[in-house]
Amino acid sequence: MEKKNIAWEELGFGYISTDYRYVSMYKDGQWDKGALVSDPNVTMNECACVLQYAQTCFEGLKAYTTEDGRIVTFRPDMNAERMESSAAYLEMPVFPKNRFLDAVDQVVAANAAYVPPYGSGATLYVRPYMYGYNAVIGVKPASEYMFRMFVTPVGPYFKGGIKPLTVRISDFDRAAPNGTGHIKAGLNYAMSLHAIVDAHEKGFDENIYLDPATRTTIEETGGANVLFVTKDGKIVTPRSSSILPSITRRSLLYVAKEYLGLQVEERPITLAEVRENMAECGLCGTAAVISPVGKIVDHGNEICLPAGMVEMGPITKKLYDTLTGIQMGRIQAPTGWIREIRV
Ligand SMILES: *Cc1c(COP(=O)(O)O)cnc(C)c1O
Repeated sequence: MEKKNIAWEELGFGYISTDYRYVSMYKDGQWDKGALVSDPNVTMNECACVLQYAQTCFEGLKAYTTEDGRIVTFRPDMNAERMESSAAYLEMPVFPKNRFLDAVDQVVAANAAYVPPYGSGATLYVRPYMYGYNAVIGVKPASEYMFRMFVTPVGPYFKGGIKPLTVRISDFDRAAPNGTGHIKAGLNYAMSLHAIVDAHEKGFDENIYLDPATRTTIEETGGANVLFVTKDGKIVTPRSSSILPSITRRSLLYVAKEYLGLQVEERPITLAEVRENMAECGLCGTAAVISPVGKIVDHGNEICLPAGMVEMGPITKKLYDTLTGIQMGRIQAPTGWIREIRV
């Protein structure tokens, strides 16, 4: 298979249309058998439920070329399961897990020419999503749904090297205490747009949201979970029912414990504790794996993490190197983490 003529090293994080995407339609109480199609455009009724009432959820995962030239995906079963819970909470039908995995295999294999080569720093981002399709004007769930999955090659999240971020404590809330924070719904992103534009205008890279009920503990950013390293070398991450369960964060905790022998805690974390007790901080998600945070600004009060503003903290770096090593096939993966795509 010949690769597309793409300057892999120059790729940013933007959408590029590829040759094939996967589509399956839900109608009369069942999913059709699904197919790969070449048209990147979607046509639907002006009153489609997704357009009026935002009934949609999505996932994000990546395909990689390993050191020995195989194409693999990382824990796609976890994305399938998370999409099941998102769909159920939004009163959408579940797209079965075995079919989700088959769709990932099909769409990555069909676009193998777009999977960036090993060592380029680029990867193939896979975007599964689902939306209420038919016309709905009275507020209720749709009765017809579209499940789709496209891929797009993306560059390394940090071009020209990893640089620690400056984040602010946000006055906006991301999710209500018994709301939708734990599911991957488009609506959570719609309402984060104002907060992120405002943060950027004021010179911050990201918003850290606090727990919406008491505004005393750390939750997460708009699109990434938060992980800390304490001054005595423990890994600590917030626990809350309004945080999206990041697959990267859960994988990093496993790697910390099982590969690096570190102690791991999941519990509420206050800002006061961050100030006194934390040495390193990182944001975890599929896009960047870990983005180091050097500074947290709480209404003008700066918390400068000891890891500093020049590079990743030493333990964050170990976590990052181990997980990316597993993804790229340089380090033995735990059973079931790597799904090889046969091209
Ligand atoms: C997708 C997402 C994450 C990261 O999850 P991963 O599975 O690691 O990619 C974190 N927070 C939010 C709000 C998200 O939507």
